[in-house]
Amino acid sequence: MAIRVLPPDVAAKIAAGEVVERPASVVKEFVENSIDAGATFIRVEIQQGGKRLIRVMDDGCGIAADEVPLAFARHATSKLGSVEELNGVKTLGFRGEALASIAAVSQLTLSSRPSAQAAATRIRLEGSKQTAFGSAGSPAGTIITVENLFYNVPARLKFLKADATETGHIHRIVSHYALAYPDIRFSLQCDNRTTFQTSGSGQLFDALAAVFSLETARQMIEVEGQETNPNSAYPIEVFGYAGNPSLHRGMRDQIVFFVNRRWIQDRALNQAVVQAYHTFLPVGRFPVAVLNIEIDPTQVDVNVHPTKAEVKFQESRLIFKAVQRAVREAVVAAAPVPHYGTHVAPSSDASLSGHAGDPASWRGMFQAHNRADAGHFAFEAQRTLPFHAEGEDGTPADWFTASDPESKKLPPMRVIGQVQQMYIVTEGPDGLYLIDQHAAHERILYEKLAAQKAKAAVPRQQLLEPAIMELSPGHAAIVESEFEVLTEVGFEIEPFGGTTYRLRAIPDMLGKAEPTQAFVDILAEMADGAIPLAKETHEKIAITVCKRASVKGGQVLSQEEMRELVRQLEATTAPRTCPHGRPTMIHLSGSQLAREFGRI
Ligand code: ADP
Ligand code: MG
Repeated sequence: MAIRVLPPDVAAKIAAGEVVERPASVVKEFVENSIDAGATFIRVEIQQGGKRLIRVMDDGCGIAADEVPLAFARHATSKLGSVEELNGVKTLGFRGEALASIAAVSQLTLSSRPSAQAAATRIRLEGSKQTAFGSAGSPAGTIITVENLFYNVPARLKFLKADATETGHIHRIVSHYALAYPDIRFSLQCDNRTTFQTSGSGQLFDALAAVFSLETARQMIEVEGQETNPNSAYPIEVFGYAGNPSLHRGMRDQIVFFVNRRWIQDRALNQAVVQAYHTFLPVGRFPVAVLNIEIDPTQVDVNVHPTKAEVKFQESRLIFKAVQRAVREAVVAAAPVPHYGTHVAPSSDASLSGHAGDPASWRGMFQAHNRADAGHFAFEAQRTLPFHAEGEDGTPADWFTASDPESKKLPPMRVIGQVQQMYIVTEGPDGLYLIDQHAAHERILYEKLAAQKAKAAVPRQQLLEPAIMELSPGHAAIVESEFEVLTEVGFEIEPFGGTTYRLRAIPDMLGKAEPTQAFVDILAEMADGAIPLAKETHEKIAITVCKRASVKGGQVLSQEEMRELVRQLEATTAPRTCPHGRPTMIHLSGSQLAREFGRI
């Protein structure tokens, strides 16, 4: 094919793809525009996860009538006049791309009125083409509506997720901006219901309570720190809130950063916060934090990506240090003084004892399944080779068919021991197996749960006293949309007004887990959407519950427990992979070992 310049509409759609990935990207751009316009009130309205409709209304400065069409031209902005200004941008927008991009892939209506103007200007565009222009009555400010996003880009449309997932992303965006701008009153309407709002009181604490729940906000401590910057007259300032050590989550997604009140994502800074909690949090748990970094705008480049979600710092190490130190100081100050003689981190007493990781919770399960011969000593089994000596009838199992690599079934195995409190070492007919205890247990629980669900008989534990939970709006949206599935897997939940719910029962397999903590962890995991192999929501929820319930790495297993785990794994239909699709075991065959040792 000969080289030719792409027609403008094709080029526009391609460019739009960089800015607009999903409905939440549109919400982000519009909210940023409203903030730049000096709004004190921003109302976001969505329908069907934003796929059907997104509307953002503000009371900002509006756009003058004669400039309205220009706002939709590519690289048209009122926020940047020269390339020098790029070094030190103070507004959230500056690329002049968002409106043009969004208009290229949707049906868009804007009506805007500066307060000095008598009537609002109304414009409509469909796939970049202006289809209407005129004036209308409207309050001062801007109302922008996007309908049928990606109606003309089927490839993108196809990749949008379920309404609940897209709604969750939008919740995240709106709540993040609500945290960055406690002085702005935000509200979010999903399918005609208010699911989130802030007071605009100017107090970060109020915004935290609106985003995370009052209960969580009460467990957060103020962070404040300063570091001098040798390259600038302005210091680096870090302020916000971080959870006290008893507040922790199964994932990192509740560490939120702003740089000069722009929401950014930065792995290194996340790590700075995690490190600040070193020894204060249980292994595998992450803190909650909302932090703003104020820095000389010339020391940060916000123009590294079209969505402006990543930034480049001139002094990234200094910023890392500032964040880590500020958070560490706050956490240390808040941590209770350890009692004499205790050797565990102060956080572990209350929060850990009810954890699913608590050996007692799954130990009981193993014991219930133990066979009569469970009392045998491991060493005895080792001496009475062959490895299947513990087989029920004493006859050797058919090694050869069982060890056929095509066979999904496991060969009979003899447990040798545990390595790193994480892997079970076994011997099979053809060499050595290393079994990941967590992955294996996940597989076992997953099949168990599937069987129970098929019989509509998932055992649940009734809580002695129902727990009242105030959920974040994002999590409440998940409960709302997945209510049925959550009930099926064993949760008994009752709406209790707003985003508050009453938890009456949890799946039996969660053992002694702290019920609300387990429930919130599972919601967080679902919100994250990080389970690639599970397409169906019910499958995803089942996997998440099993993940939470299964034995973790770092737990010492007795010989009997290991044997029982292996026996149960043998009984599953797909013993070689966990429900996430990762391997449960690694096999080192006899010939592999011989080769490694140079015997052949
Ligand atoms: P940018 O924000 O990078 O300047 P956009 O494409 O998002 O680019 O917006 C283009 C211009 O439209 C902005 O520079 C601003 O002047 C105007 N604009 C967009 N949204 C609003 C709004 N809600 N209120 C006032 N002006 C707006
Ligand atoms: Mg913008």
